[in-house]
Amino acid sequence: MRNQAAITDRAIASYLGLAIGDALGSTVEFMMPREIAEKYGVHDTLRGGGWLHLKPGHVTDDTTMSLALGTSILSQGKVDALAAAQAFDAWMRAKPVDIGNTVRRNLLQFRKTGNPEAPCSEHDAGNGAAMRVLPVALATFGQPEETVRAASRAQAHVTHHCTLSDAACECLVFMVQDALHGADKNHLLHQHAHPLAAQYPQFKFRAVRQSSNPSGYVVDTLQAVFQGFFDTDNFRDCLIDVVNRGGDADTTGAIAGMLAGALYGLDEIPEVWLKKLDADISRSCSVQARLLMQIAGN
Ligand code: MN
Ligand code: MN
Repeated sequence: MRNQAAITDRAIASYLGLAIGDALGSTVEFMMPREIAEKYGVHDTLRGGGWLHLKPGHVTDDTTMSLALGTSILSQGKVDALAAAQAFDAWMRAKPVDIGNTVRRNLLQFRKTGNPEAPCSEHDAGNGAAMRVLPVALATFGQPEETVRAASRAQAHVTHHCTLSDAACECLVFMVQDALHGADKNHLLHQHAHPLAAQYPQFKFRAVRQSSNPSGYVVDTLQAVFQGFFDTDNFRDCLIDVVNRGGDADTTGAIAGMLAGALYGLDEIPEVWLKKLDADISRSCSVQARLLMQIAGN
């Protein structure tokens, strides 16, 4: 068991890891691994560009939706579906650089109905709820499992009300929380990643081909993330492995960065990436990580 300062350090590393993975992956989002190799060799720099023409160190919806969710949690002192829906709606009105189709459709539905729970649909199995789940993991750290699951679903169902998305979100939340507690990679593999694949065989990521060009389907996303995360042993290698697979690389990068940050801690994040990350985003992530851990009573 870690002391509180060390846990908070991991929480900050997880949030910064999310943003760095998003910034790194955005350059190669929707590219094929072969195209990435031709253009960059190995893509390992926060260089911006990509289809969104970002400045170096800038981030996309994965990080900004997480921050919107985190702000709503801090304003309520807990995870609240209506507050989250209002925060996402305000985020959408501010014209974000990118937005997923399922997110847009169900936020427009929320504007009409005022109901913060999207209609249940097994077609809404995109990664849009999983990519922004980190604030829930931090704000419910140390709380009973059922409380954590309910909070994860409350935030997820604003836009993605779907069994596979829920399973992915909850798995990621518990992985982050166990990593903050000091669990090693082997524990995360055997207690969380394998059980997820045992319950939903779609999520199998061992003894299947290496995932490349992963789509926005949450199963594809987690396969790429788990292969990259479990087959490397440091923050840098994990992110480089994941984003060079291309496809939905900002989102695989963000989720892998969140896990790797929580597992390896702040000292293992390359200085050159920390420095290149947009200063406002970097500050917001660090501040939120601290405050969300205080909500959790840490
Ligand atoms: Mn994005
Ligand atoms: Mn994406």
